[in-house]
Formats: sequence, structure tokens, C-alpha cells
Amino acid sequence: MIVTCLDLEGVLVPEIWIAFAEKTGIEKLRLTTRDIPDYNELMRGRLKILDENNLKLADIEEVIGGIAPLPGAKDFLSWLESEFQVIILSDTFNQFAEPLMAQLDFPTLFCHDLVVDTAGRIADYRLRIPDAKTKAVAALKNLNLKVIAAGDSYNDTGMLKEADAGILFRAPDNVVEEFPQFPVTRTYEEFKSAIIEASKKLDGNII
Ligand SMILES: [Mg+2]
Repeated sequence: MIVTCLDLEGVLVPEIWIAFAEKTGIEKLRLTTRDIPDYNELMRGRLKILDENNLKLADIEEVIGGIAPLPGAKDFLSWLESEFQVIILSDTFNQFAEPLMAQLDFPTLFCHDLVVDTAGRIADYRLRIPDAKTKAVAALKNLNLKVIAAGDSYNDTGMLKEADAGILFRAPDNVVEEFPQFPVTRTYEEFKSAIIEASKKLDGNII
């Protein structure tokens, strides 16, 4: 049996922090895992900026409330769920993801949690486990499942390497250049084709 593990931001929904950067006009909040490989460095920087600007969880939630999945994402996900088991492995936080999951009909999501104080300030974040995406893929393989993983950023490359097949979707040039071993897809049609191709290699099933 094949399980497909998908990144969330940049693959099914827009980058939440970029949307928030646009709303607030704070240029430094545009940095994402596409730019900074070290997730802890990236998150510490973000929380510092939030404090400096007195921005609370509610401010980010307001922006997330106006975000819709990427055009075509919902149909793509429906197709994927009809053909394979699907788990979304994201380095976002449950507090951010919930309204977006509702728009995608609540697929399975493993991500992290924010620590929010009584004033609504994001005091910290709690990673469920370090390198969660890679470890999830390794655990699934231990259950004798074949895994196809797909994502767009540095924080996906560990799970792409760990998976039986890895696929890049709309990855920036720096990631594509650093990880030439993975097929590069730009549209959901190309993405579907790459997944079908990978699945045929993995279990010989024609779908
Ligand atoms: Mg991403």
C-alpha cells in the first residue's frame, strides 16, 4: 500500500507568513523555509518580529481567515485521496492550520503547536518532535507502507530523501538546484503524473 505525504504551505495553500508579511508590510516576515534551511532560526526570528511589533495570534488568525487553498488544490487533494492514503506533514501549527483544513474537508494533518499566553501573545512554539516530517515517513515505512513524499522547501527535503519516492512541487530554483535527484513539478497535472509514475515504480499497479 502507498501513502502519500504532502507538505501544506506552497503545495495546497499559500504561505501563511508571506500573507501575513503582505498584510503587515513587515518585509522580514516574508522569509520562509524556502529561504532559511534552519527552522528554529526562522521561527525564533519570526517570534521576535511579532514581539517587536506587538502582534498577537489574533492578528495572524485574521489574515489566515482570508486565505483560500491554492487554485486547483482541493480537486487535486480529492483525486489523491481517492487513489492513495494521504497524510499532510507540515511545519505549521494547529492554531494556524485549522481554518485551512476546514476548506480542504479536514484531511489528516500532523504539525506543531504554538504556545500562546493569556494575553494572546505567541510566547513560544512546540515542535511535536524535531525533524517531524522525516521521522513520520520513516515510521510509515516501518509499518511496511510505501511512501511518496512531496513538498516545495528545504524542510521537505529530509522526508523526500527518506521516502521511497520524492517529488518537488513549485520549489524555488535554489531548492531545485540543490536537490537534482527529485522530479520537479509546477502544475497539479504534472504533480499527478509524477505521483502516478512513482506509484507504478513502487508497486507495479497501473492506475
Ligand atoms: Mg512548503
